[in-house]
Amino acid sequence: MSLRLGALPQHRTPPKGEHYDVLIVGAGPAGLSAAIYAARFLLKSVVISEDVGGQLNLTNVVDDYPATLSINATELISRFRDHAEKLFGVPIYTNISVQKLKREGDEYHVTGTRDLDVYAKTIILAVGSRRRKLNVPGEAEFTGRGVSYCSICDAPLYKGKDAVVVVGGGDAAFEGAILLSGYVKKVYLVHRRSEFRAKPYYVQEATSRPNIEFLLSSVVTEIRGDKLVRSVIVKNNLDGTTRELNVDGVFVEIGFEPPKEWYQSLGLEVDDLGYIKTDMWMRTNLPGVFAAGDAISLWRGFRQIVNAAASGAIAAYSAYTYLTERGLTRRPVPASREVKSIGGETAK
Ligand code: NAP
Repeated sequence: MSLRLGALPQHRTPPKGEHYDVLIVGAGPAGLSAAIYAARFLLKSVVISEDVGGQLNLTNVVDDYPATLSINATELISRFRDHAEKLFGVPIYTNISVQKLKREGDEYHVTGTRDLDVYAKTIILAVGSRRRKLNVPGEAEFTGRGVSYCSICDAPLYKGKDAVVVVGGGDAAFEGAILLSGYVKKVYLVHRRSEFRAKPYYVQEATSRPNIEFLLSSVVTEIRGDKLVRSVIVKNNLDGTTRELNVDGVFVEIGFEPPKEWYQSLGLEVDDLGYIKTDMWMRTNLPGVFAAGDAISLWRGFRQIVNAAASGAIAAYSAYTYLTERGLTRRPVPASREVKSIGGETAK
């Protein structure tokens, strides 16, 4: 198949007052998959996002996205982008924050930074999630000076250092601890329980590394330092004892939370943690508004790229169905109305 170069955006903001069938907020795997499928349904689509890649930007190598074998995350992001933008011509505008969606007749009036001012009949929210914080003394003070939220991004900076702490018991904490154990002499993995959320593969790998020490049923209660992080206080939840560990870095890998502040004002139904409630067709409680990817409640406990991509595709299909059922967009009409049936008879 040859690459069909689509109408790539010439401006940093969509033309003022432009009308779209689908406006996709977010350009991670969910948003870009939605764009690919929306284009397949011949919907006039646009992607508006702060960045491209979403959480993929915080990953190193992806080896669980089907059919890509093992792929560098940056390469995977480029492929998602090229597929939507170059192959199907869906314009992607970045460095823009959508700030307001206002229902006007059959459309939403969408405004945001960089003078974003457009209209869309349907909206797909693929807004992802953001890093959760520990909220302990020293965390804010030492962020960027030894406190990191991305082991994958920052591990090489600690090459040859004596010790670091990784907090968390999920895939990200384990992936980070394993990676860091190749750079740093000692890695402490501090987890608040004695059971892990991480996949058994990661647990097996981490426990086989002699320089990873597990401090279980424990929490970091304080981060100390001067110009840089020098130590952490770790409290054992079972007996209440505390100890001070001398470390050069603290990697907080305790999961994500949804960017609920702005979308809550829309009247969207959300779950107890603020993730957007959808049905299996990615429909929210608002007419013409669909959601996909990490921001949805449906797969809260199993956030995978393949799930994000699948939910984006489903959201695009649902947007298409919504539009066609209401006569809000043209169904493509075959060149000839005559359709040959399998038996050879002609149907009109
Ligand atoms: P996660 O799966 O939600 O795990 C977060 C961990 O942090 C949990 O162990 C949790 O403890 C702990 N935690 C949460 N809040 C805490 C707090 N305030 N203080 C101390 N500990 C806290 O998050 P994640 O590991 O970042 O992964 C997010 C998603 O990305 C998951 O779906 C994961 O599968 C996916 N991911 C996949 C890969 C991969 O497959 N290659 C790599 C990275 C991430 P509890 O266990 O007690 O709740």
